[in-house]
Amino acid sequence: MSQNDTRAYLASARAWLAEQAPAYSGAARRGLSVEEDLALGRRWLHLKSEHGYAAITMPKIYGGGGGTEIEKVIFTNEENNYDLPTGYFGISLGMPVPMLLKYASEEVLRELVPPAIRGEQIWCQLFSEPAAGSDLAALTMRATPDGDGWRLNGQKLWTSWAQYSDWGVVVVRTDPTVPKHAGLTYFYVDMKSPGVEVRVIPKLAGESEINEVFFNDVFVPDAQRMGGVGGGFKVAMETLMIERYAVSDEAVGGISVEKFVDLAMRTRINGQPALADGEVRRLIADTVAERQGLRSIHRRAMAAIAAGTEPGPEGAIRKLLGARRRQQVSAVAMDLLGVDGVIMTEGAQPTEDFTESWIESPPLRIAGGSDEILRNTIAEKVLGLPQDHRPDKGIPFNKLS
Ligand SMILES: Cc1cc2nc3c(=O)[nH]c(=O)nc-3n(C[C@H](O)[C@H](O)[C@H](O)COP(=O)(O)OP(=O)(O)OC[C@H]3O[C@@H](n4cnc5c(N)ncnc54)[C@H](O)[C@@H]3O)c2cc1C
Repeated sequence: MSQNDTRAYLASARAWLAEQAPAYSGAARRGLSVEEDLALGRRWLHLKSEHGYAAITMPKIYGGGGGTEIEKVIFTNEENNYDLPTGYFGISLGMPVPMLLKYASEEVLRELVPPAIRGEQIWCQLFSEPAAGSDLAALTMRATPDGDGWRLNGQKLWTSWAQYSDWGVVVVRTDPTVPKHAGLTYFYVDMKSPGVEVRVIPKLAGESEINEVFFNDVFVPDAQRMGGVGGGFKVAMETLMIERYAVSDEAVGGISVEKFVDLAMRTRINGQPALADGEVRRLIADTVAERQGLRSIHRRAMAAIAAGTEPGPEGAIRKLLGARRRQQVSAVAMDLLGVDGVIMTEGAQPTEDFTESWIESPPLRIAGGSDEILRNTIAEKVLGLPQDHRPDKGIPFNKLS
């Protein structure tokens, strides 16, 4: 994409958003119930799909934009200027649907991808379990062969948006007699199948997107397997590499540094504008410098993806630093706000409210790979340091105590 093309794309995306986004963001969302907000989100995604702005990099034949990674970055950055109801579809279009594009047949893609891109259907990602999060390969949910398919039994935990999901991707243990990474298989599953039970987990911050999901003898046809039997860990890792880019967009879903600068101009420390304070200035400078660095990593990664390579472990750097920075900036903003900083504004979005941005930061430092795990990834896969101690390596899963 030439610089002129990039500028032209930015200008038309900006103009389109300026015309369309206000009816779906800000005041338009205030006072809505989650169901109403989700319905608004579905309409927004549908509208975007009619203009090539939903699933920008996905093929046009399935309703995507048929565009480039660079266009996606440009549009997402502009879209982030409005607090639009896009969160419901972040996982769906971020990970499961791209994985489907890699592994499913043409017939399945024609049936399942367009409704996801139009926001009519939502997908969730069923990986974590009560005793398997960071160590995903320790999962115990079983799939046993049954005719032309499998019976799934067990529990998943922390599944975002499962309560609204029509479909999910799931990793399960198909062979406990081999070492833990080798006995896993990856499927997509109809969340409305008999035996699937979704329970919402309440959250401190109010409305919750996280759930526990129970599978009681759920039948999944073998045709819904993605990758080989026993090859599920590799497919799961491909999914997580995409996730670390997806969840690390710009301000990591929080409030922008520009809004922090606005706040620092409006508030005072010891009678002086907060913007004149050395620590506040240092925080702004560090945040902007770090953002530039992270943008460079992202651009390089996008170029590599556009050239046909897989997303690499560098996504871990963006997620680690971005989430931590969001928490730090939001915390200082709350200090500047004084007592107003501890008041939760009902229905406020993390992109426009510092308190909401702060309270949603700790889960972000866990979801999609905790800080410690990302540090391990960076140490081993980016810096080439020796591997962490792995005492269970090579031991059959059912022999681990
Ligand atoms: C808001 C939110 C949304 C989520 N959405 C989803 C979803 O949609 N689908 C899904 O499958 N999962 C989801 N998760 C789960 C998430 O992926 C896990 O919580 C995460 O991987 C951590 O796993 P855990 O909770 O089991 O913690 P554990 O793995 O038990 O970790 C506990 C603590 O030990 C540390 N630790 C663990 N292993 C090591 C190690 N080797 N070295 C150093 N420190 C270590 C961790 O960093 C952490 O601090 C979500 C989580 C949150 C908070």
